[in-house]
Amino acid sequence: MNHSDTLELSLQLLRQPSVTPVDHDCQNIMADRLAKIGFNIEKLRFEDVDNLWARRGTENPVFCFAGHTDVVPTGHLDAWNSDPFQPTIRDGKLYGRGSADMKTALAAMVVASERFVAKHPDHKGSIAFLITSDEEGPSINGTVKVVETLEARNEKMTWCLVGEPSSTNQLGDIVKNGRRGSLNAVLTVNGKQGHVAYPHLAENPIHLASKALNELCETVWDNGNEYFPATSFQISNIQAGTGATNVIPGHLKVTFNFRYSTEVTAEILQQRVLEILDKHKLNYDISWTFSGLPFLTPVGELVNAAKTAIKGVTGVETVLSTSGGTSDGRFIAPTGAQVLELGVLNATIHQINEHVNVDDLEPLAEIYEQILVQLLT
Ligand SMILES: [Zn+2]
Repeated sequence: MNHSDTLELSLQLLRQPSVTPVDHDCQNIMADRLAKIGFNIEKLRFEDVDNLWARRGTENPVFCFAGHTDVVPTGHLDAWNSDPFQPTIRDGKLYGRGSADMKTALAAMVVASERFVAKHPDHKGSIAFLITSDEEGPSINGTVKVVETLEARNEKMTWCLVGEPSSTNQLGDIVKNGRRGSLNAVLTVNGKQGHVAYPHLAENPIHLASKALNELCETVWDNGNEYFPATSFQISNIQAGTGATNVIPGHLKVTFNFRYSTEVTAEILQQRVLEILDKHKLNYDISWTFSGLPFLTPVGELVNAAKTAIKGVTGVETVLSTSGGTSDGRFIAPTGAQVLELGVLNATIHQINEHVNVDDLEPLAEIYEQILVQLLT
């Protein structure tokens, strides 16, 4: 076994300056390797975004590796100790933009598949890859469109492993088996502007809103569950006032966000907010934006396969988590697939001098391969 395979392919991918939404040949590099081991390659380009759907086999169950080839911009080049697109190894660390998020995981997925197919050419079901170049951008023409395409022809994934960097202190210490939902609102409370000395001729929206806002802050929305912490409500912005000391303002504007568990829905939260606002007899306008539905993969085949593989390769007892921001898993989970995120350490993602431990690359490929062994043999 050549133990530099994952590193070699990582270096090749990291040399491509694939700043979102540009793929810059990364998907071709992966597709060429996958085609050689019997994957059927489908390139799905939507506007300026390249996507790859590759599948080996036609049977169910379908195990899919998912991820993205695009990276976030480098920031000031002067701040980097080496060129972000000339991957460099120093002191056992591989530096480069995308090294942690998430090109090394892409390399590990390809290498794991090659090794697995070599040993199990007649494996059960199918192996698939769903790769996009629009995860770090607006996420409009990436995974969501590929999923729509697959759904339209009733092509389903049974299990999906997203290679996002989930680990915190040690490879495999955390896997993400879900994500909280995110719901934003902009609330404008309308009053009536006037002179502070004649409050009976005005309506102070700050005074009117304060009790309602206090109630929103103190409400227990749920208690979370086995997998999710309790839903949280946070005010992120609040503005009112003309700047003058003697003027009661006419309006108050508040922006707030819910990070919510699977114990509630966005609709329930919206309804409960409106009830509180109405109870306090406010005159208001409110607009909502959804930035992601929550999803959850309970303990089952995929979670257990990952736990066993991580334990076998690294000795680490992995912990399930639903913390952190959103990922493309949110587009895949609604199809009914079990979705899990498992990748390298996330300490330096999106930062200057992004890096990974070189010694984590082969173990990650082994973990991925062992998951395939458990699910497809
Ligand atoms: Zn990522």
